[in-house]
Amino acid sequence: MSKVKFIVEKIKSKFANVNVIKKAVLWLAAILSVVAICCLLFCKPFQKVVFNPESHLVVEVQKGDTLSKLLGEQGFSSKEIDVIAKTLKKSANFSTLRPGTNKFDFVRPSENDPVSKIIIVNGPWNRVELSCGEEVGVWNCEQVEIERDVRVVYKSGEILEGDSFYLAGQRAGIPDGILIDVYDLLAFEMDFERDIRAGQRFSVLYEENYASEKKVDNGHVIAVSFEALRGTVKMYRFKKADGQIGYYDESGNGAIKSLKRTPINNAKITSSFSYRRKHPVLGFTRAHKGVDFRASTGTPIPAAGAGRVIARGYNRGHGNFVKIRHNGSYETLYGHMSRFVKNVRVGTTVKQGQTIGYVGSTGLSTGPHLHYEIIKDGKHVNPMTVKLPAINNLGAADKKVFLERRAYLDSVISDLEAHPDKIMRLVDGVPNPQDKTK
Ligand SMILES: [Zn+2]
Repeated sequence: MSKVKFIVEKIKSKFANVNVIKKAVLWLAAILSVVAICCLLFCKPFQKVVFNPESHLVVEVQKGDTLSKLLGEQGFSSKEIDVIAKTLKKSANFSTLRPGTNKFDFVRPSENDPVSKIIIVNGPWNRVELSCGEEVGVWNCEQVEIERDVRVVYKSGEILEGDSFYLAGQRAGIPDGILIDVYDLLAFEMDFERDIRAGQRFSVLYEENYASEKKVDNGHVIAVSFEALRGTVKMYRFKKADGQIGYYDESGNGAIKSLKRTPINNAKITSSFSYRRKHPVLGFTRAHKGVDFRASTGTPIPAAGAGRVIARGYNRGHGNFVKIRHNGSYETLYGHMSRFVKNVRVGTTVKQGQTIGYVGSTGLSTGPHLHYEIIKDGKHVNPMTVKLPAINNLGAADKKVFLERRAYLDSVISDLEAHPDKIMRLVDGVPNPQDKTK
């Protein structure tokens, strides 16, 4: 009997235990629900504090800073510094710190952890990212190009009395760098010192580079127009099918023309360029820094390329001579002239083929001929063999595309002229007509 009673009591107490468990489970469920609701409500700050505590420390490179100094300050050992320096040199060709340009962003998983990532700002359009590899002591290095948001800007101005192109350009709001590019582009076509007159109008279409809605720097000149003395000069930037980029006038002629090796067509060479030759008049050996072409007295001497006359005069060796500067690199000299062309003086802008003087035998010369020199970057070069800038006129297929592009750029210019506040972006080098909203 008592045994049965005992069993019944045991079963009763077991049931009581079950009730306690039931209650406990219910309470636990309630508590969990409250926690879950709290989590949901405060989800974001919760995550930020606990799951994403990444810490950034940005250090701008100062004069005298070295990589080992910067990394040492962040707790790197000299061994680690050595590994990082080698990785940077090998993968990103990064070895010299540039104060004012370079910024280091040291990233740590949380404030007290060692650095796991280093982001080096390396100019406005490039950064280097170093991240800790899975293996200890290995760093992965990646170069990241920052995408440019290229917008086109149109500016126009007018030369006033007593103005220079530079002053008028500044007044029109054209940045200095763009003005210099325009100057270099048009220098083959006109003389900015002597061909400037009040009333001349000019305009330029150029690129501005943006990143994250902020202007970073200026890009290329896309089109330029200048009312020069002998008519309006226009130039357009164009990429040929082969990928080469150049500037071309309205008809597709290259902005930068080559020089002619032989200014006088079909003239026979009577003496070549040489570092040692027996001088026909002086009798001793000396360098002949040019080429002689036989021609009769009075034969017109054409300019070998477009440029500006920088010297016209007489010296004992060259006799009557003219010197032309064609661009930043090339100059040509023409000697032994019988006479000059009256209105071709120092400062005159000449076209390729324009007559600058006449063949003669002045100076140290044994008979009428043209002595012709090409000077490249201040050094005499052999006109027959020097590599000259190619004449980059367009082929038929490129020309067709160019003429369409030119007409389109002209329409962009009139559009921006009428609505100067429009924002127009460049897509693949072409202003995008869809995107015109401010
Ligand atoms: Zn000579």
